[in-house]
Amino acid sequence: MKRKTSLRLQLIAILLAFVVLLMGTVYFVQTTFLDDFYKIHKISSIENVGKQIAGLIGDDDFDDIVEEAGMTNEVCIRVVSNHPEYAYTGACTLRSLDNNMINMMAQETMNEETGEKLFDDFRYQRRPEEAPEKVFVFSKIISYNNEPVMVLVSTGITPLSATISTLKSQYYIISIAVIIMTLILALIISRIILRPVKQISEESRNLSKGQYDGNKVRTDSREMSELNDTLIQANEDIQKADKAKKELLGNVSHDLRTPLTMIVGYGEMIRDLPEENTEENLNVIIEEAKRLSTLVDDLIDISKADTVPLELKKEDIRLNLLLEDVFHQYQKYCESQGIDFILKKVDEDPVISIDIKRIKQVLYNFINNSLNYNSKDQQQIILGAEKNGDVYRVYVYDNGEGIDEKDLHNIWDRYYKVDKEHRRHHIGSGIGLSLSKELLIAHGLNYGVESEPKQYSKFYFDLPEKR
Ligand code: ADP
Repeated sequence: MKRKTSLRLQLIAILLAFVVLLMGTVYFVQTTFLDDFYKIHKISSIENVGKQIAGLIGDDDFDDIVEEAGMTNEVCIRVVSNHPEYAYTGACTLRSLDNNMINMMAQETMNEETGEKLFDDFRYQRRPEEAPEKVFVFSKIISYNNEPVMVLVSTGITPLSATISTLKSQYYIISIAVIIMTLILALIISRIILRPVKQISEESRNLSKGQYDGNKVRTDSREMSELNDTLIQANEDIQKADKAKKELLGNVSHDLRTPLTMIVGYGEMIRDLPEENTEENLNVIIEEAKRLSTLVDDLIDISKADTVPLELKKEDIRLNLLLEDVFHQYQKYCESQGIDFILKKVDEDPVISIDIKRIKQVLYNFINNSLNYNSKDQQQIILGAEKNGDVYRVYVYDNGEGIDEKDLHNIWDRYYKVDKEHRRHHIGSGIGLSLSKELLIAHGLNYGVESEPKQYSKFYFDLPEKR
């Protein structure tokens, strides 16, 4: 298997790569383009000052303004004009330009359509013994009172090689500092993010045993808490399923044993005492064998529901006929037990299209539960239907022990039991509500339960009329 890199290393690698990229870009820009940026900046500054001054010619305080502009922008300014009022000569580079030079520059400037020119290769020699200095000169010629006025603005260009080498050495120090800070940052981030991930991953090894302990995971992040909650829920589900599996085995063995005991007992009795070979006793054996068969059918159904979708054989039937059929199954038994069993039919008696056997099975399950969880002296069970908007609500009501609100959501879960000590009735298997739920979902029907503890329960599903 390919060796995987730890999340912490990946994080450090990503952050370092980012820093190297960032610092590299800064280095490149600083060292390669600094000179160009500097020149562009200088040129734009002398152009701006030149244009500004040209607009001020004729102003009362012209001299003062020009002097101030020169100082604040650190540029040299000279204004050449025949009229002394508009002329200005600062005490700097441009002062020493002789008339020939000025005339040549004026000529070149006037040749430009805009009346502006940038001399970017101008050499200025302060003293004969000094090497010439490179300066940029911007010149602009305007006409004022029908006289040409020429504004010259210049700036010196300092060679940047010394600056660049200072920047480079600074840059190395900054790079090392940034890399150290990045490493520290990566460690802090990995502590914050990765610690809960590690805790969750360690704890989840116990998930399959249903022993995931979400309290051991410490995190302030929403995503991690959500992941933790999901695993806590999965853990509970695993525990539930595990418990349910054990309970199911217990229940099924119990359910199998009771009819088997009866069959063996009655069989032996008939064998040993021929006078007991009566129709009544034989019917007990047959009934108990049928009960076994129903139990096995239900078990097959519920295990199938997990893998293949239930196949429905839909047929048309009148709703009242369906109710009567189910009612007759229980009528005699309820009479014998003194239970008040009532049938409430619907006036409209619509035709419905259902898998009759399956829907009857659902109703049997509901009624069996009503019989099982009905501890009152005056027991009442109602099997009925009522119009509810566009659909017919078929229900089984009992005035039994009811269901606590906290259990209401769970009772449809597979193998969920509120009361483990209840007795089972002789019809159906008692796997009950989860199978009923599967069958109702397969039919696409709305279903539910209303209940009040110690008062009543009403299990129902809604059937549409066939169109
Ligand atoms: P079982 O009857 O085998 O326990 P079910 O799935 O049929 O399984 O029912 C699940 C649980 O719902 C029962 O254990 C019981 O607590 C509760 N329950 C179902 N029907 C009723 C009812 N009519 N009255 C009170 N509680 C009920």
